Amino acid sequence: MVIKPKVRGFVCVTAHPAGCAAHVQQQIDYVKAKGPVANGPKKVLVIGSSTGYGLASRISAAFGSGAATIGVFFERPSEPDKTATPGWYNTSAFTTAARAAGLYAKNFNGDAFSDALKTEVLATIKRDLGQVDLIVYSLASPRRTHPKTGITHKSTLKPVGQSYSNQTVDTDKGIVSTITIEPANEAEIADTAAVMGGEDWEMWINALDEAGLIAPGATSVAYSYIGPSLTWPIYKNGTIGLAKNDLERAAKAINATLKVNGYGRAFISVNKALVTQASSAIPVVPLYISMLYKVMKAKGRHEGCIEQIDRLFRTQMYGGHGLTFDDAGRVRIDDWEMEPDVQAAVAALWPQVNTENLAALTDIAGYREEFLKLFGFGLPGINYDADIDPHVLLD
Ligand code: NAD
Repeated sequence: MVIKPKVRGFVCVTAHPAGCAAHVQQQIDYVKAKGPVANGPKKVLVIGSSTGYGLASRISAAFGSGAATIGVFFERPSEPDKTATPGWYNTSAFTTAARAAGLYAKNFNGDAFSDALKTEVLATIKRDLGQVDLIVYSLASPRRTHPKTGITHKSTLKPVGQSYSNQTVDTDKGIVSTITIEPANEAEIADTAAVMGGEDWEMWINALDEAGLIAPGATSVAYSYIGPSLTWPIYKNGTIGLAKNDLERAAKAINATLKVNGYGRAFISVNKALVTQASSAIPVVPLYISMLYKVMKAKGRHEGCIEQIDRLFRTQMYGGHGLTFDDAGRVRIDDWEMEPDVQAAVAALWPQVNTENLAALTDIAGYREEFLKLFGFGLPGINYDADIDPHVLLD
């Protein structure tokens, strides 16, 4: 079938297998062009490995350090007449490339929050790898069924304490408008922390640790976001930010566990705001990202997921470097985003933007390009008018 993008609000309901493969290949090429990462990870578990920051982490580990990787993700497989979600195609392309390079790559498509999937993954680590020396926790999920209570918690993206009004953009239609979001109630705050907080990361580490599957000196990292004060009511101080505080709490607890287990370490890396399936769902943030891209591209400092994670691996986690922490003990790979001149430029643009000048004042074109790329559209060298089989197998 001929596969074209079908954008519905902040999702695209189709994905292009060859385009997703080309997108993955671009990221592999980026890492390979930089050369090997000295003392990089060798046996890696990535939880949330099929798109965004998790996929970039898996690619960095495999193609920067020759690591064996196990990826855990939740994607809709393809059918003979229906496209998969992009993470399915990404993972297929990654797996083909990794195995062609002689690297071990094993995939688990299922619910990372469940005990059943954890048990399966643990058995595979034990059988195939013995132990893992890097565990990346990069889940972004709208819901979690708690494995002990059976309760399904849904996350919300709301302010806490008071309502929040600001500008937002419909990235598909290009309309800038003011949005007012009512504050979350206590249950919504708790539910969001149950989904996006640190409990599940701790459950993974405890299960791995109890089974003796964590190598001495292992690292575990989870990703967070802070951003500028203009987005704080909806992000840092909102329901998601409170969940991220719980992720930071978990990082400290896991760090203590890994330390006991042979001087390992766990930490939070605060990453840059980027177009991913997760971030496109957050009100206000896509407008901020469109401005940020404009400012950072002009400064020659723009990065995507692969550039961010490659820099994290090469300059912080491995390659003979130590981790550099901020006052709260977090690694800041969002440092270029948060540079005062970048933030001053965005803050100056913010009050000026409207529907009419959106294209001139922001990089909405770049935002849309990146968004479509997430689904495998707009990649060079792909004939999007050609017939292509949407059904791609993955093992
Ligand atoms: P993403 O949507 O691209 O990736 C989410 C991943 O989680 C996918 O692999 C998906 O399959 C997997 N997943 C979701 N639910 C699952 C489940 N139940 N079981 C197994 N896998 C599941 O998201 P992303 O933007 O790369 O976010 C990853 C992390 O990075 C999040 O913690 C996010 O807060 C953080 N982060 C994102 C940004 C940003 O701007 N995008 C910035 C800083 C930090």
